[in-house]
Amino acid sequence: MKTKSYFIISLLAIALAFSPAISQAQSLASASSKSGVMTKDDQANLTSEAALEDLMAGNKRFVANRPDKLDMPAQVKATTTGQYPKAVILSCIDSRVPVEMVFDQGIGDVFVARVAGNTEDESILGSMEYATAVAGSKLVMVLGHEACGAVVSGINGFEAGDNVAHMLAAIEPAIEKVGGDRNSSNKKYVEEVVKTNVEMTIDDIRERSPIMAGLEKEGKIKIVGAYYDLHTGEVVLLD
Ligand SMILES: [Zn+2]
Repeated sequence: MKTKSYFIISLLAIALAFSPAISQAQSLASASSKSGVMTKDDQANLTSEAALEDLMAGNKRFVANRPDKLDMPAQVKATTTGQYPKAVILSCIDSRVPVEMVFDQGIGDVFVARVAGNTEDESILGSMEYATAVAGSKLVMVLGHEACGAVVSGINGFEAGDNVAHMLAAIEPAIEKVGGDRNSSNKKYVEEVVKTNVEMTIDDIRERSPIMAGLEKEGKIKIVGAYYDLHTGEVVLLD
């Protein structure tokens, strides 16, 4: 009797597992959440332009509050043995610019280097060279943002020890290039310094990294600057 019950229960379990209703529910679940990740082939077939378009489309989803539903545990599992990111993004540390969220990217999609004021130094350059020349990313983006505290501190001549001085010294050339009065309460002026800082960081990347400059000349990567609007969450590309 007991054996017979088990047999019937097992049959029911098998029938349920293969019933159309269950299969449909499973396929709906996978359709509504993104569990796939960047593969080696995806990265190889991705152009720099397509990588940039992908990030900008992600930002549009972020602004519209319609981000992709990501299956994080599935993405964690799928990236265990490797990563093939689309891009490397150099951003400020600002808590209001969470880079992966801003571009609606999942696990394994982008490398992110963050330092106050989004400037380059040897470690950042080395990280970006690793991301592009070794790990195959197709896009380098330098992302500045509205009302950057590091830029404002640089404008105000904030003093707080050698390490902060070192960080602010990297922003100083942009302040000098913009010229005029150092007025951090002038929002337009701060915006101009932030954008100039992004442009000068890109110039420095090309000058200080023959590896990335070479990849760009060969058309294997693109290097772009962008600006994040704290009011709207929108990223705009800089010329
Ligand atoms: Zn900042």
